[in-house]
Amino acid sequence: MPELPEVETIRRLIHPVLVDRSITTVSVTRDRMLRRQEQPTDFAARLQGRRIIDTSRHGKRLLILLDDDLTWVVHLGMSGRLSIAPRESEAPPHTHVRVGLDDGAEFRFTDPRTFGYTVVLTPEELGEAPSATHGPDAWADPPSADELHRRLEGRSAPIKALLLDQTIIAGVGNIYADETLFAAGIDPHRPGGSLTFEEIERLLEALHQVLEAGIAAGGTTLGDSAYLLPDGRSGEFISKLAVYGREDETCPRCGDSIVRDVIRNRSTFWSAGCQR
Ligand SMILES: [Zn+2]
Repeated sequence: MPELPEVETIRRLIHPVLVDRSITTVSVTRDRMLRRQEQPTDFAARLQGRRIIDTSRHGKRLLILLDDDLTWVVHLGMSGRLSIAPRESEAPPHTHVRVGLDDGAEFRFTDPRTFGYTVVLTPEELGEAPSATHGPDAWADPPSADELHRRLEGRSAPIKALLLDQTIIAGVGNIYADETLFAAGIDPHRPGGSLTFEEIERLLEALHQVLEAGIAAGGTTLGDSAYLLPDGRSGEFISKLAVYGREDETCPRCGDSIVRDVIRNRSTFWSAGCQR
């Protein structure tokens, strides 16, 4: 599932192609992709003729800012992929949303599993969307140690699960949560409320470094190739993963075997030898 570094990588690549372009055509062949749009016909009606002003991102959501104060939101779900190609070129299978631009290019949202969605929102709708309750962006706007300490206080859920909770911090998914907890030397099973202030400081430092390195590598393309850059390249962070997907391999820090546990239904890779 694309996480913050993958979505940020995509944003950086499509930004120069999208900004200042006007939208000329909109085609949606799978209504499910518009399930967050209260009136599905609003999607095309609102995009048609709009000019793209800027791009942004909050957590795992890509935000495309339009004139008229509209925000075009794209969430890639489990397997969503974006590409921009000449309109006459053949689109990949499972391309459900196509948005034509005034320079002849086409924005394409391809999603085999259709867990992704896209929606165009007014400022009021954006403020009331379920995602309006998301916490601060894990990389661009991370919480202070004080703030995170308050948010974790009294929480008995494992810190791994709390890192995945988008209402606490937005943008972290399974891969970067495991890598962050490893880098911080924290046992993923620990109740969130048991972390000391010093451990929370370490966690935030590790989170920043892991996300920064993930972005620098263009994100993580796993063996399933579900995530690819808009130009078809793979993200290279897989070679830098210390624990994720490395069950039974040797921990690079303590030499113990890396284990895979399941925490709240999510695979969790960690080293019992050096994560406390
Ligand atoms: Zn270790």
